[in-house]
Amino acid sequence: MTTFRAPKGTFDLLPPDSAAFLAVREAMARTVRLAGYQYAETPVFEDTALFKRGVGESTDIVNKEMYTFTSQGGDSLTLRPEGTASVLRAALQANLHKAGQLPVKLYYSGSYFRYEKPQKGRYRHFSQVGAEALGSEDPQVDAELIILAVDAFRGLGLTNVKLLLNSLGDATCRPVYRAALQEFLRGLDLDEATRARIEINPLRVLDDKRPEVRAQLAGAPMIGDYLCEDCKAFHAEVRELLTDAGVAFEDDPNLVRGLDYYTRTTFEFVHDGLGSQSAVGGGGRYDGLSELLGGPALPSVGWALGVDRTVLAMEAEGVLEKETSRVEVFAVPLGEQARRLLFGVVRDLRRLGVSADIVFGTRGVKGAMKAADRSGARYALVAGERDLADNLVQLKDLASGEQIPVALDQIIPTIKEKLS
Ligand code: AMP
Repeated sequence: MTTFRAPKGTFDLLPPDSAAFLAVREAMARTVRLAGYQYAETPVFEDTALFKRGVGESTDIVNKEMYTFTSQGGDSLTLRPEGTASVLRAALQANLHKAGQLPVKLYYSGSYFRYEKPQKGRYRHFSQVGAEALGSEDPQVDAELIILAVDAFRGLGLTNVKLLLNSLGDATCRPVYRAALQEFLRGLDLDEATRARIEINPLRVLDDKRPEVRAQLAGAPMIGDYLCEDCKAFHAEVRELLTDAGVAFEDDPNLVRGLDYYTRTTFEFVHDGLGSQSAVGGGGRYDGLSELLGGPALPSVGWALGVDRTVLAMEAEGVLEKETSRVEVFAVPLGEQARRLLFGVVRDLRRLGVSADIVFGTRGVKGAMKAADRSGARYALVAGERDLADNLVQLKDLASGEQIPVALDQIIPTIKEKLS
């Protein structure tokens, strides 16, 4: 025991639960690697201004949730609250968009930080896997990314992830819609903060969850009615590609998401097994973000999937497999000579790709066999002085209890054969 606790809103990943998180991250990463996305890793902190600019001054993230601090050198730095701004910053800094074919396809996996009110599925330190395709205006890229996320969820055994889809328009039609929405919203009975939001980012008001606000939004103009021909055609193509792929989606004209930079395709993956938090992932197109960060025009699209919430969703659907086995083989040496010998056997098994562990220190037979059972191993390799005198070890199947003698020079081939 210690008097120290993990900070509020955070939790530790420890065995046996930690394996599931690792497996989820890896499954998501594997899915996008299959489509040519390459790994990117950026610092966990960035210039505060990057997020202010990139995520948006009117967002809750920037206004209330950032972990911002002044460094010893006097710089304002912020723990990353999301991945897109950092990854785009890194790609622009390294000129990746000039180095080869577009889009530049990157994925990432790591920790993100938001000062949110902690509850189930909402933490101050959480984990995301994200993918971004930088520099293409092809709707196939939007569809590709959405399909990959769907495949990742399906690959994890999830069947109840719902896809919500919307288009937020572009630089041509969004301003017209924005003005119409502002005019509508200014006529409502709203509090001061929300009135201020109307002037900065009126689309965010549509995202308001309070019933008294929701009730007044009934007749609000909808972006779908304002999309220009290009945006309409783009959105129709994305929808068609998803339908061809057998990906079900629900049109959600209210889906605006909490970040300012989205244009055109916007989507969210939701799951109803998470309590009050339902989003397991989300993303969209952000054609203007690069220019906003001082870069060239670089139309892009991406998503981020929440690892913690995906694990919760898997738990809710009963598809979360607990890790019960640490190693395949567990060695139980009884006596000093056996300790030496089995230490070498275990080392060789590992070198051949068989996971193996051994009892350390001197323990009685009972305690040692208990350790073997606890490890979840399929086989125990037991050797005492008498076995060694006969040039043997005992190979015990820990599930059935069956035990067979194996000649010393046959240990490794026998185990390899049994495990294959
Ligand atoms: P966002 O960048 O807000 O769209 O987040 C993308 C995904 O990250 C969400 O769909 C969640 O699954 C996950 N996520 C966001 N914020 C949190 C949080 N505070 N705690 C846990 N997961 C989060």
